[in-house]
This record gives sequence, C-alpha cells and structure tokens, in this order.
Amino acid sequence: MLTDAFGRTIRYLRVSVTDRCNLFCSYCRLPGEAILPNNQEILNFGEIVRLIRLFLELGVERIRLTGGEPLLRRNIVGLVQALAQLPGLQELTLTTNALLLERYAAALKTAGLQRVNISLDTLNPETFDRITQHNSLSKENLLHRAGLPAVLAGIAAALQVGLQPVKVNMVVMRGINDHEIPAMLSFARQQGVLLRFIETMPVGEAGLDMADLFVPADQILDQIHRHFGSQLLPVEQPGSGPARYFNLEGTTANVGVISARSRHFCNTCNRMRLTSKGKLVYCLGRQDRMDLKQPMRDGASDAELKQHIQQAVALKPERHAFEQAENPHIGAHMSALGG
Ligand code: SAM
Repeated sequence: MLTDAFGRTIRYLRVSVTDRCNLFCSYCRLPGEAILPNNQEILNFGEIVRLIRLFLELGVERIRLTGGEPLLRRNIVGLVQALAQLPGLQELTLTTNALLLERYAAALKTAGLQRVNISLDTLNPETFDRITQHNSLSKENLLHRAGLPAVLAGIAAALQVGLQPVKVNMVVMRGINDHEIPAMLSFARQQGVLLRFIETMPVGEAGLDMADLFVPADQILDQIHRHFGSQLLPVEQPGSGPARYFNLEGTTANVGVISARSRHFCNTCNRMRLTSKGKLVYCLGRQDRMDLKQPMRDGASDAELKQHIQQAVALKPERHAFEQAENPHIGAHMSALGG
C-alpha cells in the first residue's frame, strides 16, 4: 500500500499521455506556446503500461488518462485496451476536451474505458473560440477547427456509447463565462451529464495570469441559488474525489464544485500525477517531482522502481502552496501536469 507521511493512502493516479493539445485555453497555456516534445522524451506505451502495473501492484486502483489532449496520442485506443487488462484496475477513465471524441468514443468504450470527463467552459461559440484561442491554432490543427459543435458532438457520442456518467467540467472565470453558470446547468440537466464548476488554479504562467478572474465556489453556488430560487443541499456522490456535490432542491439535478483554492481538500488527497515524460508529481500545487523514466531506461528492476515510487509518496507534501507569496509552482504547466 502507498501511504504517505500524513496517513493518506494513494489510490488514484492521473497519467498524462502527451503534452500536446489542440486547444490553447487561456488559463492553461500561453498563446503560441509550442509543446512538441521529442518522441524519445515521452514514455512509450510499454513504459506507461509497466509503470501503471507497478502502481496497481502497490495498491492504486483508479487510473485517469489525461494530457495535453489524450486523444491526440497516437493509438490511444490501443493503450486503453492494454491498460484495461491489468489486474487490480478498478476504474479506467479519461479527461478530454472532446474535440475528437465523436471519432473515438465507441472504440474507447470497446477497449475498456469506463467514463470520460469533458472540459467545456461555455455554450457560446464566440466565447469558446476566445477561451480556447481556437482561431490561433496552427495549420496542422486546422483539422480540429470545428470547435464548440465538435465538443457537443463528442458529449453526445460519449452518452450514446455508454461512457457514463459523463462529467462536464467548467472552469469559471469572472467576466468571461460566469454569467453562463445557470445556462450550463440547464444544458447539463437536459443532456443528462453531471456538471462540475472548477475554481481557477494558479498553476503555470497562464494560470497565474488568471488571478483577477477567480470566482470562489460559494459565489458560484449562490448564483445558482438566486437564479433557480432553490436551495442547494449537500449530497454524497460515490467516488466524488475532490468535488463537493449538491442537489438543486425539488429537482433531480446535482451539481459539483471543485474548490481547490477557497476550500482546499488536501487532507483527503489520494492522488499522484505521472507526466508524459515520466516524472511523478506529488502535488498539483508544488514543483517537487521524481523522475521514473531515467531509472527505468537505465535498467531498474520492478522492485527498484517500486522503491522510487514509495520514496516519492513519502515526500508528498501536507498541502498545496497556491496561497504562498512566492509561487513555487510558476514553472509548472497545467498542460504538462494533466489538470
Ligand atoms: N485536454 C484535456 C481537457 O481539456 O480536459 C485534459 C487536460 S486539461 C489540462 C485537464 C483539466 O485541467 C481541464 O478540465 C482544464 O479545464 C483544467 N485546467 C487547466 N488549467 C487550469 C487552471 N489554471 N485552473 C483550473 N483548471 C485548469
């Protein structure tokens, strides 16, 4: 079992399979920031599968594939298929911007993917293009230029093939999309997806630029309460992780908030992150990490790699450092950390 110095047991691993993305969301990447790691630098499929097998042997139960945009990784379906067969894996999920999901949903489901979380911050095509800087995409990305309609088609495809429950994550930004909170909730109810509002996090230079746009979760909940005229009653949601869930009284609609800043949940954190370059990240809000790729490429045995993983877990900090005056996480990039 992987238990850290504060008694938290690690059961969940987020695995970034690529740093590349087909969007430039303003809170995640700086405009024009090119992320084209040399193929040698990123873990190959054999290395990813081996590391995940070791994590599972050490007690991790849930794996989430992320990125960058995970659907841009070549043969992502093959990777899902290989991972789905690993003993001990209880849940295999993926986080995506859904631009390519319509194309892959059925194959991913057949390969053994259980659920998807989809990032969608707006229902307005112009706001979508503005947030995702969709129009500044380079030539090779023009294929993916369908924007908001492609995301909506991706959501429909996920529902249709049964990658359920589909969760939709909205990063709320003051003056940009906060007026869309009620509309997004109505959309989620209509579609049958579970909406979660995410507070902006100061990760990476793009994230730090977002300081003025921060909307605390309590204000988000208050806006829903005022708009719909109903109370929001706390509810338990199985496997809820860092989200807190509420039911809109008198309806079947539930809604989640992820308030990493206004009400941190570090004391129940059960997760670690593996970057596409093989670095194990202990905490989203810190810079510390342990390299697993080099020892693996230098011929480390399974037992030695497990020791590295155990050492990393022992170094997991008690809590994130988002509020500290000097920002130790400024050099990190959300697109490399996998969100
Ligand atoms: N490309 C995939 C996607 O869009 O879902 C997966 C990677 S993305 C980095 C994962 C999540 O991180 C997304 O839901 C995104 O909205 C969130 N994210 C990125 N930067 C963030 C920030 N500064 N604050 C809060 N959430 C952020």
